[in-house]
Amino acid sequence: MPLEDPGAYALLLKGMLTVALLTFVSLFFVSAAYGRHARAGWGPTLSARAGWILMEAPSPVVFALLWALGDPARRGSAPGLAFLGLWLLHYVYRAFIYPFRVNSGSRRMPVFIAVLGVVFNLFNATINARWLYGLGPLLDAGWFRDPRFLAGILLFFAGWYINHQSDRILLHLRKPGETGYRVPQGGLYRWVSCPNYLGELIEWGGFALLTWSPGALVFWLWTAANLVPRAWTHHGWYRRQFRDYPKERRAIVPYLF
Ligand code: NDP
Repeated sequence: MPLEDPGAYALLLKGMLTVALLTFVSLFFVSAAYGRHARAGWGPTLSARAGWILMEAPSPVVFALLWALGDPARRGSAPGLAFLGLWLLHYVYRAFIYPFRVNSGSRRMPVFIAVLGVVFNLFNATINARWLYGLGPLLDAGWFRDPRFLAGILLFFAGWYINHQSDRILLHLRKPGETGYRVPQGGLYRWVSCPNYLGELIEWGGFALLTWSPGALVFWLWTAANLVPRAWTHHGWYRRQFRDYPKERRAIVPYLF
């Protein structure tokens, strides 16, 4: 079983935090070359749909595998099952349904980006599942009444809803076959350019709270390191692209950033 040793686990978390910090700074200077920021010079490419499936599939698969191989008491406990359900709720959609809903035509993605996504998701599913089904405390159903769980589950579903609502608005901006961009309206687009990313951040912040797990906290910090700079880049792109872009709209945090 990987990462039986708490020392090795802690070392992995520290390594991931270091890389997250470097990623956060770098992404303000170099945007990841997929979607509207796709450009030549990033090596061989694959279809964006295949890239999304490849990147995201390791997450539900590895998490479910480590759940199945985990400590029987933890994996069979009510909180242990709830954590599994929440993880799969997000990742089965993201890996196997979302890629078939997007309308990105023949858009391609660098293999390099997809490989980075695979590596991240392998590590991320591991640090999360290993804590919840091995190294972390054994929780019973009383955990469902803990304020951390109650606040976390509210945040998780609020973020999940915002993420889905925002992505749904984007996916309806194009007619079949179109690949251009329009100014999104409605939902939280009233306040920010990337409410889908904001929803994702709230959702995984909720997960960190409801699991009270160091692995989930590192995941949340990673999500911020990845999505805050990308929202900033998207926001700048919208403002350059559309002269009448709403002035009051911010990148990802209403009124602030
Ligand atoms: P984007 O917002 O960049 O794009 C989402 C989809 O909508 C793409 O198909 C895009 O097309 C299309 N789209 C975006 N803006 C417009 C517009 N103005 N007009 C028309 N179509 C538009 O999101 P990402 O692709 O970066 O991410 C997709 C999902 O994955 C999000 O929910 C995000 O939160 C999540 N995600 C999570 C990460 C994490 O770290 N947890 C990391 C990355 C993503 P096109 O591809 O052609 O640009």
